[in-house]
Amino acid sequence: MEESLLHEVFGVSKSYHSPRTEVRPGGVFVAVEPLGRLYLCPACRSRNVIRKGQRIRRVQTVPVGFHPVYLDVSVPRCQCNTCQHIFELAPPFARRTRTTRKR
Ligand SMILES: [Zn+2]
Repeated sequence: MEESLLHEVFGVSKSYHSPRTEVRPGGVFVAVEPLGRLYLCPACRSRNVIRKGQRIRRVQTVPVGFHPVYLDVSVPRCQCNTCQHIFELAPPFARRTRTTRKR
């Protein structure tokens, strides 16, 4: 997947990348995974977190031609080694309408 397509067209946050895209009967399936910099404990801001599995959240996005496009977003489940907090990385999609907010 062209990264600019992912970010500009599908509105996926630039903190995410796409390791693979599959065209299957029924649509185009784009795997979307968070970059390493997102692994941060929301409770204590520690980066000392470990992954404890994940789930996939499928989101339908804008079609390409007549093909429906689905984003298979990885939602990793993590545990903080510093404070033992368990959390998921919620998929933060960029907003459809442009804002001036920059990260
Ligand atoms: Zn923590």
